[in-house]
Amino acid sequence: MLSTTVPMATPPTAWARRFSRCVALLACTALLLIGVAASAGEPSAAPGRLGVDWASVARMGTGTLAQVMLIGLLALPFQLLAPAVRRAPKLSTYEFWLDVVYAFQGLWLQVIGISAAIAWLVDAVYGGRDPWLPALRTLPSLAQIALAVWAFDFVVYWRHRFEHRLPVLWSIHAVHHTAEQVDFLTTSRLHPLELALGALCNAAVIRMGVDPAAVATGFTIYLLYNYFIHVNVRLRFRGPLRWVLVSPFLHQWHHAKDAAAIGKNVGVVFAWNDRLFGTAYDPEHWPVEFGLSVPAPERVGQSYVRHLLYPLQYAAARLQARRDPKPALV
Ligand SMILES: [Zn+2]
Ligand SMILES: [Zn+2]
Repeated sequence: MLSTTVPMATPPTAWARRFSRCVALLACTALLLIGVAASAGEPSAAPGRLGVDWASVARMGTGTLAQVMLIGLLALPFQLLAPAVRRAPKLSTYEFWLDVVYAFQGLWLQVIGISAAIAWLVDAVYGGRDPWLPALRTLPSLAQIALAVWAFDFVVYWRHRFEHRLPVLWSIHAVHHTAEQVDFLTTSRLHPLELALGALCNAAVIRMGVDPAAVATGFTIYLLYNYFIHVNVRLRFRGPLRWVLVSPFLHQWHHAKDAAAIGKNVGVVFAWNDRLFGTAYDPEHWPVEFGLSVPAPERVGQSYVRHLLYPLQYAAARLQARRDPKPALV
């Protein structure tokens, strides 16, 4: 007679957990290499004193659709097999469709001319000028690529840090923190004004003097790593590596609601900036809740259009609070 009892699932052993993390790490490295190889052939240079196509700079901050789809294909099995936060499939949720809208954002910003406007702005600031350190182009290609990755990460660390400190910048960065189900798609959730600010800051790396091809490869590495730290995978680094590279664990804390983690772990690729400049948060436990907890007048609405208008809403709420301060308790 057949037994009707269902065998209990045995919890994964420590060895199995370690193995799955190694596989996740290897897959993410493969993801990085494939993405770099796929993007290396993209034209990046155009005539000009710095040899840079500003339109491609304007797109900086978001990946191409092909990159997003490739990352999605590679990340999905790990998000399903070893998720940092186990939850129902996101597919039918508001969060998923909002992320899809953001994934296509680059396309319509291009169609309605916003990308061209950003490119014009960057050109007005940096165009027609010589590189600061032209001797950098004599370095070996690999050294130039490594320098570009470091420089992008350093510039982004400080921009991101100021975005958490200065109210006017926070109002454009807050939409990235509206995600309550953080995963690789969250990477693209950026306000167009943040893309413009990012392009302006990132262009400084190009002005530095590294060869445009090395800049393009360095930026692709930075960008793919940014997708990697958003993947909902239970992966953290131990030992000296936790001082060198940011892990998905550290960035998940950046998106956590916990008061202790607010404004912490602002680095993207290299963990040493957070360690050196006092913004590291690396507890033993994992975060549970993600998103924003802000007072009602500053709450971010739940739609793409409301996200776009959020800087205005935030400014209005701040002005109103100044004009109408709460009466002091007597
Ligand atoms: Zn942030
Ligand atoms: Zn993020």
